[in-house]
Amino acid sequence: MFDLNKLVRKNIQELKPYSSARDEFSGTKGVFLDANENPYGDLNRYPDPYQSELKEVLSEQKGIDPKNIFVGNGSDEVIDLLYRIYCTPGKDKTLTFSPTYGMYEVTAAINDIELIKLPLSESFEIDVKKTIEAITNPLVKLTFICSPNNPTGNTFSRKVIERIVQSSPAIVVIDEAYIDFSESGSLIDLVDTYSNLVIIQTMSKAFGLAAARIGFAFANEAIIELLNKVKPPYNVSRLNQEAAIKALKDQQTFNLQVQAILDERKVLYDLLKELTFVKKIYPSNANFLLVQFSHGNQIYNSLVNRKIITRNRNNVARNCIRITIGSPRENQLLIKELKRLENEKSIVY
Ligand code: PMP
Repeated sequence: MFDLNKLVRKNIQELKPYSSARDEFSGTKGVFLDANENPYGDLNRYPDPYQSELKEVLSEQKGIDPKNIFVGNGSDEVIDLLYRIYCTPGKDKTLTFSPTYGMYEVTAAINDIELIKLPLSESFEIDVKKTIEAITNPLVKLTFICSPNNPTGNTFSRKVIERIVQSSPAIVVIDEAYIDFSESGSLIDLVDTYSNLVIIQTMSKAFGLAAARIGFAFANEAIIELLNKVKPPYNVSRLNQEAAIKALKDQQTFNLQVQAILDERKVLYDLLKELTFVKKIYPSNANFLLVQFSHGNQIYNSLVNRKIITRNRNNVARNCIRITIGSPRENQLLIKELKRLENEKSIVY
């Protein structure tokens, strides 16, 4: 179809990566005098730079070869590495849809890359024709599709995404941070078919490991090799690798928590619907609801004053607030406060 290697920045193609002590000798038994570590303590040794055990567990669960897995310090690291591998600062472009996750834009700005933002329709769908026109620009090196999309909560259809991947002469990244809350499954199976596809996922949401900073990229081996070439040598700490393995093996907790969040999403939806100043609640495949109020800013500020912190999305979707699904108690507190505001009639609607 096209030469993937040609997309890679010249300096990255030519880069001689850092060779760590653990690259040169990877056995676990021996007298280790090679990495200038302290011989004493529990955390004195550098972690496995390629997270082999974690990849084995993940490989079994996702049905994908470890060679097709990259582990990042959160999926934000994967996004940044992709920019640095594929986009020449001041020259190349990337593409996404608006509104969407803000880090594609921030990372573009950090790397001095122009991000083209194609607006989603009123019901937050992608205009496939315009997208295909835009991605044929040879300067567009990465296209980010967030599905389920943050902050709108909807998932784009497999058919739409596949058409974009097929039509793209460059890399397409599908950000599946919220996929475990969605009825439509992951598109990870497409990695075998499309060499220009990168799927990213995170343990920060459904696995409840935001503090551990564990993100994944699934892609063909050539892309994974580039990510490994550019990443900091020990990008994921041993503590975090262990936390990730433990969480992945505890399927029961995962299933219970995801189900609890999905049940609460429904409860919250039904309660919010009853409020007079709620104009619209967008259907969600994620662990949040995007809610349009009559006066978004006022509601947001009143909630902050009562120490209930939501995400004001008024600047990207008028009068909209993104509300994360909390515990039943947290959600009740939110509803109680909104009802109080409604009764007080301090907000004109
Ligand atoms: N992608 C999306 C769509 C997100 O919403 C987030 C976090 N808010 C991330 C990626 C980053 O996740 P991580 O914690 O793995 O860096």
